[in-house]
Amino acid sequence: MAKVELKDIARRFGGVTAIADISFEVPDGEFWVLVGPSGCGKSTILRTIAGLDVATQGQIYIGDRLMNDVPARERDVAMVFQNYALYPHMTVTENLAFGLKMRGIDDKTTASRIDTVAQSLNIAHLLDRKPRQLSGGQQQRVALGRAIARQPQVFLLDEPLSNLDAQLRDDTRAELKQLHQTVGITTIYVTHDQVEAMTLADKIVVLNQGSIQQIGTPQIIYANPANQMVATFVGNPPMNMLRATYQRQAGAPAFAVHQQRLPCPERLAAALKPEQRINLGIRPEQMQVVTAQDPWHLQAQVTLVEPLGREVLVRAEVLDGAAPSTTLSVLVPPSQTVIVGDRLYLALNLDALFVFDAVTGDRIGPAE
Ligand code: ATP
Repeated sequence: MAKVELKDIARRFGGVTAIADISFEVPDGEFWVLVGPSGCGKSTILRTIAGLDVATQGQIYIGDRLMNDVPARERDVAMVFQNYALYPHMTVTENLAFGLKMRGIDDKTTASRIDTVAQSLNIAHLLDRKPRQLSGGQQQRVALGRAIARQPQVFLLDEPLSNLDAQLRDDTRAELKQLHQTVGITTIYVTHDQVEAMTLADKIVVLNQGSIQQIGTPQIIYANPANQMVATFVGNPPMNMLRATYQRQAGAPAFAVHQQRLPCPERLAAALKPEQRINLGIRPEQMQVVTAQDPWHLQAQVTLVEPLGREVLVRAEVLDGAAPSTTLSVLVPPSQTVIVGDRLYLALNLDALFVFDAVTGDRIGPAE
């Protein structure tokens, strides 16, 4: 096992900068997840660590060894891709054993490692089958097993669950987490699925357009996002955004929102200038649907009601004068009756309000 350190990594393809200024250090034994929208550079970072791609700039260390000029096969990393690439003519056992044989591991150790991996991934009953006799989920377990059996210093996993159906994906995700708790190998995992990122990671690296937006524990990324991109990317349903202008009227700080007003908490007012254009961020669970008017309520019209079982997702358009405008998502308890077309009020928890610069998306002021 080993730490993985990237120092100021960049990768350019001709005039295209795929990634830039990428620096982070994954401590020995931790599970880090790289997350971000399509094209943000996740796979390029992983391929650079694996030695399948060459950085235009910067240094990569595994343990204390500088890896820039070390060929991929000597880096002692195991990579698992979305396309599992098993050898079709070999049985599961032969697939699992292949990497070990290549490294000169003796038969007894190989058999013991295959046994352990097969048990923990629940593929022991499939060992004599060929890949075409397996389901997609089973093939993916074998691909993971092949990487685990090698006992590398580092695992690099690139969207390894994205070919699985929803149920299998949930199950395999939980198994992966358990496996990591058992074997403790340093792991870097790429996904665009923020649920995978939240559930698996010791630390999440949020990427956008080739650069790091924020690094933190799942809790920090959720509760304390550095900017609007991170705030809206992590969380499902995503954080709501409302265009607003900061104003002071008769000394009282307020937000003008679609011809309505909300009081601005003092902790945010100190960082704002009069008439500054901002976006207000509020998570769906930080609002309530109420019938009584109050200064910190926004009037809205219900457009959609989606029962989710444990809660109900209500979509409501904030009224701009008489006309509807921005649609907000609100989570309410199933016991509450909300009907499409209702004109109601949304009570915002002002302690949970975020403010972002309307132009740069940077976070303004502190949040709770
Ligand atoms: P996805 O989630 O869709 O797999 P990603 O976050 O993994 O995306 P990368 O595959 O790392 O993104 O690509 C990052 C950027 O680099 C993209 O804009 C991509 O078009 C560009 N890119 C990647 N490989 C090349 C290449 N060989 N030549 C030119 N541009 C490339």
